[in-house]
Amino acid sequence: MGRPWNWRLLRAGHFMLDGGSMFGVIPRTLWSRMVEPDEMNRYRMQTNCLLLERDGTRVLVESGFGDKWTPREREIYCFQDRTVRDALAEIDVDPASIDHVFLSHMHFDHAGGTTHAEDGGDVVPSFPNARIHVQDREWQDARDNRTTMSGTFRPENMDPISDQLVLADGECEPVQGIRVMPVPGHTWGQQAILFEDSDGTLCFPGDLVPDVHHFHPSASMGFDMLPWDNMVTKKALFKQAMDGDWRLVLAHEMGPAVVTVQADPDHPGRCLPVAWQPAGDGSATCDG
Ligand SMILES: [Zn+2]
Repeated sequence: MGRPWNWRLLRAGHFMLDGGSMFGVIPRTLWSRMVEPDEMNRYRMQTNCLLLERDGTRVLVESGFGDKWTPREREIYCFQDRTVRDALAEIDVDPASIDHVFLSHMHFDHAGGTTHAEDGGDVVPSFPNARIHVQDREWQDARDNRTTMSGTFRPENMDPISDQLVLADGECEPVQGIRVMPVPGHTWGQQAILFEDSDGTLCFPGDLVPDVHHFHPSASMGFDMLPWDNMVTKKALFKQAMDGDWRLVLAHEMGPAVVTVQADPDHPGRCLPVAWQPAGDGSATCDG
């Protein structure tokens, strides 16, 4: 895969979703011990993104929920007043300098930050010089609004970027050193994004494993289009991660978002996350 990437974790803003929707078949008595629901049964989730840099090339993985929200939507989802552009500004990275954006899938909390509204109200690309990479299947489903959710595939996150798209068909390496791999279940066309740093492989599996509480095989979301496939895909990913010593970067984890995977000694066939900390040599940066 060539020379290792330098990377850092970007916290693009937190928001809240209904805990019952997030945990699917897991009863509230169990999930409410893992996360802290508010009085409306919602729990708080981060939108984690990655900035990769190598030889003058800048790559963003994911874009968060963006800022094109009505006051009513802000109330429902408790969106933090923060976007991935704020996270980039804090480290002096100009959005126009981003060469590639990789999206796991097109739901609003992953693709919403690809565009923003200008002062006049026009919605424009947030990364005007970037190619935007997503699976062809995901794009077609998003365009056709093929989902059980209302309002997760939003035209304002798609129309302005349609000229920037690079659509992938299955597993491939659209940019040298960055591999994408289908991880069907949450959507038909979701992809994981993989790359290497000097310590080995990192994998961003999107909403296949949104946070540390979704390591249990049954912990699919009510939003998943294919819960069975999601479970099968997740088990396969954990095996690959253990065999290859991968680190996973969890899209919605509020705490340490980079984890390794280990077999659960108490439950054969299940896996546990182990928080990863970077070595002190600065080879990789994990902020937050
Ligand atoms: Zn999603």
